[in-house]
Amino acid sequence: MATSKGKAKSSSSKEKIETVQPADSQPNPETIVTVTTETDDKPEVPIEKKLITLYQLQQIDTQIDKIRIIRGELPLEVQDLEDEIAGLNHRLENFQEEVDAFEKQVAEKQIQIKESQSMIARYKEQQNNVRNNREYDYLSKEIEFQDLEIQLAEKRIREFRHSIETRKESMAASQEVLDEKQADLDIKRAELKDIVEETEKEELGLVGKSDDNQKYIEDRLLTAYKRIRKNARNGLAVVLVERGACGGCFNKIPPQHQLEISMHKKIIVCEYCGRILVDDAIVKAANA
Ligand SMILES: [Zn+2]
Repeated sequence: MATSKGKAKSSSSKEKIETVQPADSQPNPETIVTVTTETDDKPEVPIEKKLITLYQLQQIDTQIDKIRIIRGELPLEVQDLEDEIAGLNHRLENFQEEVDAFEKQVAEKQIQIKESQSMIARYKEQQNNVRNNREYDYLSKEIEFQDLEIQLAEKRIREFRHSIETRKESMAASQEVLDEKQADLDIKRAELKDIVEETEKEELGLVGKSDDNQKYIEDRLLTAYKRIRKNARNGLAVVLVERGACGGCFNKIPPQHQLEISMHKKIIVCEYCGRILVDDAIVKAANA
């Protein structure tokens, strides 16, 4: 019937994450987490236990963050080196193409010289059989012309060879840089491999521990934790109150609110930065 539909959820289990608010200030909606939890499938857990679990979760997540930061820079360095090496290789290929083109032109000029030489030989032979001076002069002019062609071709060959020489010098210089970068890359890659292997196991263990801890925190509180962590630059969502100040943003916490924090009856977040605040007792219990 209609009455049996109500799942009879206890409204006495309502919890609130409260922010400590100075009386004269308007709450900043960005920093306030108001989580009202009706009992989900997870068992009822005292606030103190939740705070301890949250603090432990924070410690684990901070360790994971540190590992990821250490590992984070090395792949970038490796990537930079790979890009530089690819650029140098491309340059070397371009130089090689130019060298090949010049060498082809040298070969063409050499063929041209041979052709001119054989023409000269033919003209010289024809000169022995001329019928008049006009024919002789004509052949002389042709020989002279082919001779000039040969000289021009030889000049071009010298120019091409000079170009080949300078390209090869540039190639040698690039190759030297490339070898250095490649050696550097090999070292960095090995370093990265070691670090990945070293930290992967640790990270996996921590991620598992983080997941385990998350099971003991109800979804809405966990979502709030993750959101605060994402918005906080240092990834800290749960911080210790130290010398009367928030351990995340270092703003002073009024004595009345410090007292509330020490009672472990409510989850209290910093009015300035929105981080969840815990006292020494919670930290001690979390580290026990
Ligand atoms: Zn704060």
